[in-house]
Formats: sequence, C-alpha cells, structure tokens
Amino acid sequence: MSELKAAVVGRPISHSLSPRVFAAFSAAMKRPMDYRALNLAPNRLKLALKEAKRDGSIGWNVTLPHKVAALELMDRLDNSARAAGAINVAHFQKGRAIGYNTDVEGFLAPLKTRKFRISGKRAVVFGAGGAARAVCAALRRAAAGEIFIINRTRRRSRELAAKFGAGALNWDAGSIRGALAAADLVVNATVLGMGGRGNPLPPGARLKSDALAYDLVYRPRMTPFLRAAQSERAKTIGGLEMLIAVAAATWRIWFGENLPRELLHRVEEALQ
Ligand code: NAP
Repeated sequence: MSELKAAVVGRPISHSLSPRVFAAFSAAMKRPMDYRALNLAPNRLKLALKEAKRDGSIGWNVTLPHKVAALELMDRLDNSARAAGAINVAHFQKGRAIGYNTDVEGFLAPLKTRKFRISGKRAVVFGAGGAARAVCAALRRAAAGEIFIINRTRRRSRELAAKFGAGALNWDAGSIRGALAAADLVVNATVLGMGGRGNPLPPGARLKSDALAYDLVYRPRMTPFLRAAQSERAKTIGGLEMLIAVAAATWRIWFGENLPRELLHRVEEALQ
C-alpha cells in the first residue's frame, strides 16, 4: 500500500504531538502514512495549501496561528467549522479543501465518557483564543446554562462573549473568585500551565466541591491548574484526552473509520 501524505501545519510546530499520534494510528490501522509537521509562516499558508491540494495529500491538521486564516482559504466548510469560526482539520478531495472543526467534538468527548452533563449548568472559561472559541461552541452545543469568559485582554473576551451569548468578566482575583464559587465546570483554554508555568486560578481560589476542572494544556500532564483544582477536591480532566479525541475525529473524516477505544487508550498512555 502506498503512503498517504498528511501534515500538521502551525508555527511553532516542534512541540506538536500529532506526528506521534498519527504514526501510532497508522501502524495500528495498517494505513501507511507520511505525516509531517510543517512550520509555516502565515504568509506561506496560501501557497502551501495550493501545493498540498495538488500533491495527493489526504489532509492537514491546522494549529496555531492558522486556525482562522485557514478557514478563509477552504473551498467548502463543514457546519462544525462554521459554528466555531475556525478550522483544525482540512480534507483534500479532488483538488478541493473542505474545512472541519473537531476541537468541538474533541472537547466534549471526555465529558461524555464521564457522563458529565453541562446542560443548564454554569461554565467558566479562561481564555479567548482559538481553543476558547471551540470550547464555547461546544458548551453551546451541549446547552450549558451560563458561560462566563475570563481573559487577560478584555476586548477579546467581550467579542467572544458576544458571539456565544456569554458573560465577559474581568481578569482580576475578585471577579474570578466570584465566578468560580458557583461554577460546575471550569476550563483553562489559555496557554498558562504550558511547561508547568502559570495558572489562571488566583491563590486561594475556591471551587465547588463537585466542580469539574478541565485543562486543555497537555504538557505537563499535571498542570498547576489541575493541581490547584485537585487540592480543592474537584474532579479533573487533562488536555491529552481531548488531543487524542480530536485526532480520532480527524481520522474519521479522512478515512471514514472509527478507531478502536482500546487503541486510543494505548496511544494516550504512550504519550504520558
Ligand atoms: P491562542 O489562540 O494563542 O490563545 C491564547 C490564550 O492564552 C489567549 O486567551 C491569551 O490571552 C491567553 N494568554 C497567553 N498568555 C497569557 C498570559 N501570560 N496570561 C494570561 N493569559 C494568557 O491559543 P489557543 O489555540 O486558544 O490555545 C490555548 C491553549 O489550549 C494552548 O495551550 C493549546 O496547546 C491548548 N489546546 C489544547 C488542545 C487539546 O487538544 N488538548 C486543543 C487546542 C488547544 P490574550 O487574549 O490576553 O492574549
């Protein structure tokens, strides 16, 4: 069987775990793949896409900072991409690029596994970047009762809040403490915690005893946010589960195959 070309495009990209995840999937599913990590400057995105559509590639994973810019370059958009306003997957078919957003589905997957229902409940989301946008789209899809967005740059939280009918709160300890006191789900969709540095929770922040804290950051596995949430006896979810779920959804788009659950667990374990 000949190798199928695919890539993850972003900048920086060296930290991406996607090549390892797809190498494991392709070995297990016996679909040889040449899956690369492409470090692309924003001004090279358009040309690289044109080449990839022509060279027989099956698709791209799209990451920072290209998720919104790449959406504009797609020939067609799936509803998931339209709802999120960003893409993280492109599927190339007959020279055309179709854009999807599997971050939404990937974010919800670990909540489903835990039978955690956010419907009618309160969620607090830290961050207003691409990931926070997908989280808000997911929370709306899951009929969250109230969403509060807290971001360092207030203008961005206001914009996101307006798009998703959410509240925008100031990034100060008082507002954060107030919002957390009644939050059922607390999501870190900022970069704080990457490399083990930073935490959106101010010192002494209290969480509800049955709250669920969900960190999108996956390196390290135990982030300062998750550690602080655990010390409050909250339940926690780390970012690796979402990463694998997002990749599994990509595989389904490209190959029309559901990956076995046991394979997903095995790959997650191998990455820890
Ligand atoms: P992004 O679009 O660049 O947004 C970055 C966010 O972090 C913004 O809200 C930004 O606030 C905030 N931020 C940056 N530096 C900060 C600081 N020093 N203090 C407070 N806030 C700060 O990035 P993204 O795509 O949303 O990604 C965010 C995180 O989610 C990354 O760690 C990424 O790896 C992770 N992620 C994980 C998955 C997964 O599958 N687990 C999927 C997607 C993303 P400002 O607006 O004020 O700059």
